[in-house]
Amino acid sequence: MTIYRSIKVTKAISKSRLPDIDYALNPYIGCEHSCIYCYSPDFTSDREVAYNWGLIVVAKENIANILEEEVKKLKKGIVGVSTITDPYQPVEAKMELTRKCLKILVKYGFKISIQTKSTLVLRDSDIVNSELFDIGVTITTMRDDVAYLLEPNAPPPESRVKILEYYSRRGIETWLFLGPIIPKVNDSVEQLEEVVKVAAEVGSYIIYDKLNIKPTSLSIMKRKWPFKIELKEVVRLSQTREYYEKIVNIMSMLSRKYKVKCVPSFKYKFSKSITEFLK
Ligand code: SF4
Repeated sequence: MTIYRSIKVTKAISKSRLPDIDYALNPYIGCEHSCIYCYSPDFTSDREVAYNWGLIVVAKENIANILEEEVKKLKKGIVGVSTITDPYQPVEAKMELTRKCLKILVKYGFKISIQTKSTLVLRDSDIVNSELFDIGVTITTMRDDVAYLLEPNAPPPESRVKILEYYSRRGIETWLFLGPIIPKVNDSVEQLEEVVKVAAEVGSYIIYDKLNIKPTSLSIMKRKWPFKIELKEVVRLSQTREYYEKIVNIMSMLSRKYKVKCVPSFKYKFSKSITEFLK
């Protein structure tokens, strides 16, 4: 059972440190989708929400009003919606905080990059246009059973495909975020190929990502890990250069086979935060 709270904020938008976006906008704190690999808890200042990831969602009830004041003074740029939560929380259907923010960003001519797993983004199709928007949808696997274990409260993969299909057809730039690719969970050539094939069919390019491990996300993964393979083994593998190169090679092969642009969102880097865990 998710607990919902509301707060009033004094700041709506922040500078982003992510490549390709200038600003980050997160209308909610926490995320009901509850993906077991999520590393947003490590970037969430409300530690109660972070440690109970998926169980508490805090709505920034006045975010749209604050945003309107802020954007009047901001240099135009690309706004990532959202960066540490999914902007289409189930409660968004009622609260419409993301929707109100999108309207304001459009009004002031900001570009908007949405990333979600939720079909609720289709509700806002009346606001989305090809001039200002790109739409990204995360699909880690096309297999329902694996997706359910990884992302227990997110809509199933097939319904996420419908989002890409719909917006691509409308001429909006769409991208499929294939990540994280987790050793022995969703990294078989067959599973990766199923996702790349879908991207080819719906006309999206792919950004793929490795497993990112941070201290809080690791503690949550240890608690929730539902697979037979040992987590330590998965983490160890995910951080090796050989594994990185293997995935890049598979994705390059699939990219050529299906004529889909596949871009890694990462360079090889060993995550220091797992050193203790691997001892
Ligand atoms: S949808 Fe995104 S923000 Fe939400 S739990 Fe999953 S990975 Fe984290």
